Amino acid sequence: AKKAGRGEQRVFNDAMNAAAKDALVIDGALRGAIEAGEFYLVYQAITNAHTGKLTKVEALLRWNSSLLGPVTPDRFIPVAEDSGMIVELGTWVLEEACRQVGQWKHGLLDDVTISINVSAWQLADPGFVALVAQALQRNGLSPRQLELELTERVLIDDAANVRAVLGQLRALGVGISLDDFGTGYSSLSYLTQFQLNTLKIDRAFVMDIEHSERNNKLVHAIIAMGQSLGLQLVAEGVETAGQAAILEKMGCHYLQGYHISRPIPPDELLRFACARADA
Ligand code: C2E
Ligand code: CA
Ligand code: CA
Ligand code: CA
Repeated sequence: AKKAGRGEQRVFNDAMNAAAKDALVIDGALRGAIEAGEFYLVYQAITNAHTGKLTKVEALLRWNSSLLGPVTPDRFIPVAEDSGMIVELGTWVLEEACRQVGQWKHGLLDDVTISINVSAWQLADPGFVALVAQALQRNGLSPRQLELELTERVLIDDAANVRAVLGQLRALGVGISLDDFGTGYSSLSYLTQFQLNTLKIDRAFVMDIEHSERNNKLVHAIIAMGQSLGLQLVAEGVETAGQAAILEKMGCHYLQGYHISRPIPPDELLRFACARADA
């Protein structure tokens, strides 16, 4: 490898220091942020590719820090993962999402499934399954209304334990979704080793299915494979009508992305559901 010159080295060190400082500042600001009510959830629609009807909703975490202003998940989730605070934060997300769905009950969103993102740390917590069961019960939800999104990273951490926990969650009736499929370690054995319901095809592949023959073929192959394994398929990051049409033709079941809807507050989601119900 080429040795960095003094100047380059300094730039590199400065960038490292800036990133470390950023993480430190965020870590400090995260303390007490739950109690201070600085977090809220936005909801992104996932629609049936064929009918356009709202089928699922992904809850996405937002933080309006009193010290730092709005901070995006890409900045604070990794910090919360490092400190372990993600467990407390994830518990808040679970409870808040279930509360919201409980409130939506007896309405347009009756049959809609809520998807929440779960980190490896949460899954490793021995009390996790009980926590999920309690959140469902407390808010009057059926387990079928909840789906947990995991990344491939979660699956390799402690495979035996994860397999057991996922088995318990499935027995409860909760859905399990593999997020960002294709970007991680992507061992195909995951697909049969763990009890999954849903594969979410990462935005990176969906992004240029209109222009890249390679990605087009790749997405087609993922869809065919998922279907043969009896999995539901969600395409992430659908930004154009062209992409949506291609995915529908390929047999992808569900679509998520800015072309359908941005992540929005609960009242706006209700309006979205209303508009799609008559479709
Ligand atoms: P993710 O789970 O893959 O969520 C999808 C991300 O893509 C969201 O970013 C969403 O706003 C964005 N997105 C959706 N459609 C489009 C599109 O058409 N184009 C583009 N360019 N982007 C789109 P967001 O909300 O910033 O979240 C980023 C990541 O932070 C999430 O990626 C997830 O890994 C993590 N995250 C968010 N909320 C939570 C949470 O409650 N718990 C945990 N553990 N992680 C979370
Ligand atoms: Ca997700
Ligand atoms: Ca994703
Ligand atoms: Ca992602």
